Amino acid sequence: MPLVSMRQLLDEAAKGGYGVGAFNVNDMEQIQAIMMAARETRSPVIVQASRGARKFAEDLYLFRLIQAAAELNPDIPIAMHQDHGNSFETCKSAIELGYTSVMMDGSLKEDGKTPSTFEENVEITRRVVDYAHERGVTVEGEIGVLGGVEDGHGAGGSGLEHITDPDQAVEFAERTGVDALAIAIGTSHGAYKFTKKPDGSVLKMDVLIAIHKRLPHTHLVMHGSSSVPKELQDIINQYGGKLKPTWGVPVEEIQLGIRNGVRKVNVDTDNRLAITGAIRKVFAETPEKFDPRDYLKPAREAMAKVVAQRMVQFGQAGHAGDYKPIPISEIAKGYKNGQLDTRPSVAGR
Ligand SMILES: [Zn+2]
Repeated sequence: MPLVSMRQLLDEAAKGGYGVGAFNVNDMEQIQAIMMAARETRSPVIVQASRGARKFAEDLYLFRLIQAAAELNPDIPIAMHQDHGNSFETCKSAIELGYTSVMMDGSLKEDGKTPSTFEENVEITRRVVDYAHERGVTVEGEIGVLGGVEDGHGAGGSGLEHITDPDQAVEFAERTGVDALAIAIGTSHGAYKFTKKPDGSVLKMDVLIAIHKRLPHTHLVMHGSSSVPKELQDIINQYGGKLKPTWGVPVEEIQLGIRNGVRKVNVDTDNRLAITGAIRKVFAETPEKFDPRDYLKPAREAMAKVVAQRMVQFGQAGHAGDYKPIPISEIAKGYKNGQLDTRPSVAGR
């Protein structure tokens, strides 16, 4: 199956009332782990690469791995997404490679650290939307600023500093025409999200629900949505790691989000923890081993297990065969003739 439009994948998820995990890739073992899980659970899936991943793996290696995944799994819809694009050029280069979706994170300036103004965000996102939609490519925008830093991207600080304002979210959707919108509701990137199990004082699910009510046609995206399970932290610490106690976003909260318009759920940290724990275990228990396959294989399996679990929890499991991919050229026509227009003033009329 060719790579699928993320818009189609999310529209289908909205119809089916489920969420789709977006899992980060940096290397072959990670893409294999994601596809093992997608096959096992019969799930459509979003695979995403950050700027850091594109640099680490080199664009062509990484993109060819994704193409191989699509070729080897003709019955699984896969969308390939640029995670946190920092500029028009980053998004354009991803589209030129063949990514079917890009995130223009205009909530930060091009340095990926300094919060931008609302007007700057609208302007850069609108420019990416025009370019991408003409080519049938999906666009995710971001309004509000997430906490933490990942892959050198992020404003740092707590997730509570720049919670998305629902009025601004509506104006942003209207003026940019994004397909999907990442909102800040108190989550942060990285492993250290919360210092206690999060409750309503730190995770603003009421804001999410308010935004969805006003923007029913814009797919909402939850970033920083690893659950950071204690079992995975424990394995790392049991075998010589030194993680400080930390809490992620409970799966029940993500499921509440999915019932309220969240269609894309970004998960990276949990996979990093699973991989590192599995490798540490091999190193600690069998220090005589030195063949990379002896630790990469269990690492890949540990990640596949977490991904499969999330696919079931998000509800995407079992939906791989629900639909046929619409060619990207047809999607481009849908944008052109207004069929795929999500702006609140026109969508659903
Ligand atoms: Zn993110």
